[in-house]
Amino acid sequence: MPGRGTPRLGPALTGGDRVSNAERTVLTGARLVLPTGVVENGKIAVENGVITEIAAPVTPPDGAAPALDLTGYTVVPGFVDMHVHGGGGESYHSGTAEQVIKAAHTHLRHGTTTTIASTVTGEIDDLCRQASMLSELVEDGVLAGIHFEGPFISINRCGAHEPDLLRDPDPAVVRKLIDASRGAARMVTLAPELEGGIESIRMLTERGVIAAIGHTDASYDKTLAGVDAGATVATHLFNAMPGLAHRAPGPIAALLEDERVTVELIGDGVHLHPAVVDLAFRGAGASRVALVTDAMDAAGFGDGDYMLGPMAVKVRDGVARLAEGGSIAGSTLTLDVAFKRAVTVNGLPLDTVSRMLSFNPARQLGLSDKLGSLEAGKRADLVVLDASYDVVAVMREGRWAVGAEKLKDRVPVPN
Ligand SMILES: [Zn+2]
Repeated sequence: MPGRGTPRLGPALTGGDRVSNAERTVLTGARLVLPTGVVENGKIAVENGVITEIAAPVTPPDGAAPALDLTGYTVVPGFVDMHVHGGGGESYHSGTAEQVIKAAHTHLRHGTTTTIASTVTGEIDDLCRQASMLSELVEDGVLAGIHFEGPFISINRCGAHEPDLLRDPDPAVVRKLIDASRGAARMVTLAPELEGGIESIRMLTERGVIAAIGHTDASYDKTLAGVDAGATVATHLFNAMPGLAHRAPGPIAALLEDERVTVELIGDGVHLHPAVVDLAFRGAGASRVALVTDAMDAAGFGDGDYMLGPMAVKVRDGVARLAEGGSIAGSTLTLDVAFKRAVTVNGLPLDTVSRMLSFNPARQLGLSDKLGSLEAGKRADLVVLDASYDVVAVMREGRWAVGAEKLKDRVPVPN
């Protein structure tokens, strides 16, 4: 049973280490990706888990405290994943508390310092039980909330969700899931064209839960009605919805053009052609795209045979497909790879990509006053990347959770 004693993500390193988890840490020399742009030779001071100072370029050493020299590296804010089902061989949908922590740790190694736990379609009672367990991990700070993806979705666009368990979004049933989550429900994906869809969007919005439109067959007008009712997220835009047609613009055009909507994109190079990603970047702009993984258990783990809820999934060469029918069934993506692809394949500027991986999802989740950018006063969640944009180290809440051993070669310099 998880509870007060549940280990926090990113356990402290033992003392006596040059790269210690001291109360105050100063990092110098790195390229910093700030909300205002990219600066070279920057300085970040961290105290008690919070960023206390950002300076660039570094002022002359004052000898006050030793600093860790990160010259040659790039520091970006920790990634925020608002749509992810699991990783490291474990699932948020069905895992125990220990398994959920293992999945979150796997993504933490790849730079995700804030994560939602996404479920898949299941029996309502099973979803309520899992939500109750996940809510304790939200309270403990391991997770940032719960996202219910299904069962209130279209049978015509159900992807890897069990068709027999789908149902209309009756607001009373949707509310059951929210109540079982004890304040931890952050988002529900639903199809607005289903009976009760618009009413449920209103109910969720009133309760401060994000209504996301996805796995839908809605028309352009019905999608806009969903947004007018309060929906603010497009669940993996393009995937599991009708395509953009010249006389039937459908949900894609509605969600892409509406300033009220944040669009999720799965940036793995499998779910979307790079040209479609470019189109979405241009259509929605830098402030309305959130790159997500939609990852299942195999992320950070490897090929094999898995279950996604009740559905058997085969992962081959990193691509997850239903054993029956071959539909794409989630991804094996981690956000460091999404970062690298957006920079190297799509050619986007570092600060734009960082926004799409950290600030935009944090803002959507209502967390951007606390995290999601490198700014004084924000939680010290940092990802240190090398010149190839591979993860070197990850700091969460001021503690080196990942990669501290790789920083040992970095001789502390006088600050
Ligand atoms: Zn999903």
